[in-house]
Amino acid sequence: MTDALEVRDLAKAFGGVKAVDGVSFALREREMLALIGPNGAGKSTCFNMLNGQLKPDGGSIRLFGAEILGLPPRKVWRLGVGRTFQITATFTSMTVIENVQMALISHHRRLRAMLPFAGALYKDEAYDLLELVGMEDQSGRACGMLAYGDLKRMELAIALANDPRVLLMDEPAAGMAPQERVQLMELVARVVQSRGVSVLFTEHDMDVVFGHADRVMVLDRGRLIVEGTPAEVRNNPDVQAVYLGT
Ligand code: ADP
Ligand code: MG
Repeated sequence: MTDALEVRDLAKAFGGVKAVDGVSFALREREMLALIGPNGAGKSTCFNMLNGQLKPDGGSIRLFGAEILGLPPRKVWRLGVGRTFQITATFTSMTVIENVQMALISHHRRLRAMLPFAGALYKDEAYDLLELVGMEDQSGRACGMLAYGDLKRMELAIALANDPRVLLMDEPAAGMAPQERVQLMELVARVVQSRGVSVLFTEHDMDVVFGHADRVMVLDRGRLIVEGTPAEVRNNPDVQAVYLGT
């Protein structure tokens, strides 16, 4: 089976700092793969290159076999690489369901058709997505009024409106309470199951990582040092050394 993402020798330096220094890995289809590592390890730099926001110095990024390295973010997004939790993408004066409808309208390139029908367009699909993320009873609320955790779930629904094949989540649970973190990851796992999405994510809370990832990769100073199942990675002495700073 072709991998969802196949990354080879990805590299990026800022001035003299090799932020990402020859990273290679595969994200398998329908997998939840965690990328962990201490602050400054290069995780966000990797994410920024994977969605086209940042131009790599070298390497290759294949999406289901097709090279996407060098494409602009909009093209990468169109090809099915979603990135969650960009708060700026939401319209705070609109309701929850209107935000998801807007994302669907944008995905189906129906912007010109939108004005006369705005109230009804893709409403059923939007409602289905809100159901998927457990927010159907909040569909009519203004999203400026949402609690932080609900905003995160709405943003997941918005990302799913683009029908992504791959979801990149850079610290999706940042700022959430421990209980909310677990709930969000359970929700992402359900989405992987029901939509067949492949997920690459980072997360600080190791209990969340080891509890939800199918596989874990550890990045240290721009290089992948360990990759394996949660149990393998948790017990690896090199990983413990990185986190203890020894
Ligand atoms: P992480 O997400 O793992 O905490 P980052 O990818 O944000 O790590 O950062 C990796 C390294 O690259 C750090 O040393 C950081 O200071 C540096 N870095 C990241 N982005 C930039 C940038 N735009 N300009 C200069 N240095 C950067
Ligand atoms: Mg980061």
